[in-house]
Amino acid sequence: MGATRSTHKAPVLACLWRRKTSALVLLVALLAVLTLGSASLAVSPGIMTLHVIDVGQGDALLLSMPNGQHLLVDGGTVSAGPAVVAYLDQQGVAHLDLIIATHAHADHIGGLPHVISSLSVAAVWADSWDCTSQTCLGFYDSITAQGIPTDTARAGHVFVWGDVQGLVVHPAEPLLASYNDRSVTLRVTYGGVSMLLTGDAEAAAELQMLDRDLPLQAEVLKVGHHGSDTSTTEAFLTAVAPEHAVISVGAGNKYGHPGQAALERLTEAGVEIWRTDLEGDIVVSTDGETLTLVAVSGRRAPPLSWKAYLPIMRGPIPPPDAIQAKAWVSDPEPLQFSTVTVYGSLSEEGQGVAGVPMETVWHYRTTTATCSAKTDSSGVAACTRPIGGATAGYYVRIDVDFLYQGQTYSSATGFTPTD
Ligand SMILES: [Zn+2]
Repeated sequence: MGATRSTHKAPVLACLWRRKTSALVLLVALLAVLTLGSASLAVSPGIMTLHVIDVGQGDALLLSMPNGQHLLVDGGTVSAGPAVVAYLDQQGVAHLDLIIATHAHADHIGGLPHVISSLSVAAVWADSWDCTSQTCLGFYDSITAQGIPTDTARAGHVFVWGDVQGLVVHPAEPLLASYNDRSVTLRVTYGGVSMLLTGDAEAAAELQMLDRDLPLQAEVLKVGHHGSDTSTTEAFLTAVAPEHAVISVGAGNKYGHPGQAALERLTEAGVEIWRTDLEGDIVVSTDGETLTLVAVSGRRAPPLSWKAYLPIMRGPIPPPDAIQAKAWVSDPEPLQFSTVTVYGSLSEEGQGVAGVPMETVWHYRTTTATCSAKTDSSGVAACTRPIGGATAGYYVRIDVDFLYQGQTYSSATGFTPTD
């Protein structure tokens, strides 16, 4: 694994500097990338990192915040799901604070059920919860199985995580007819640097965004719809005025993405283009002032496998179950030969339930272990185990089950031992 750019003539270092401040911070970050792959950036204090994961034809974006919170935007195809989970594992991400599903197409949500069953996830947002495909139903079922709270993302929604602000700039009601044009579009701002993630938004969506009184300007644009000619209109590009454009696209895809006209519009606007089909994973990091982009080549995702679309209709997603199980650990990155405490909580209508047995199963690389406990008066149970010489860097998943009123309520958490 190395840091390379195959399409850019300038040496890697030369194309990285955007502003002249904070050279030391960036140099440290860059050296970390060069020596360790991108692994250390996910948790670098003070640095926000966007990982554009090479999932072939599709999108999967990991945003790691300076305060340690993580957001996943889309999860690639069904066949890319394991690669996305492996990437998150490699980054030491055991818990996602939020998943945003931009829209219900298989190359964006297909891999998400695998992610949701492998990691703990605090919430899922989507453009809508109308399912018309088997893939979408699988996604829907994976969320309800874990009892994860959901919301629909609408223009104007904001989240603030530490010093980072996330602003949804699209879609708004009434939704456009095209699924692509419903794509949740997110502008993430840290200090003086913004990134705009557009899903598969095409011209009609871009036009609506231009008419809306929300900021679009961004240093980094995740180009809409895999660089298709039907996205990245000149007017939109003028409003966003990016310095770097990242295109998530599969090599040799049958759609002809990225389109020649879209590439020309970007080039004419003086935007530097980065492509996952040519360069593999692309890691964008910023300290809020300066910007670093590195392509980490050498890893390729499986090709897109389309799932048959079935005409199945489903109404709006119901509110989260009245009874919810959650799980977390004392330390997501414990030292080998230390101890880890797994906590679980069971709540009913938001109130902790006391006296409920909790069973946990710890999935090490070659063995499993268990421990159990009962919830206390606040509905929280905890049990502790020594982790011995558990393999460093291997994510140990902990399945957590509560048996309550004859039903099992499940959650999961885990940790990655370090040496
Ligand atoms: Zn797509």
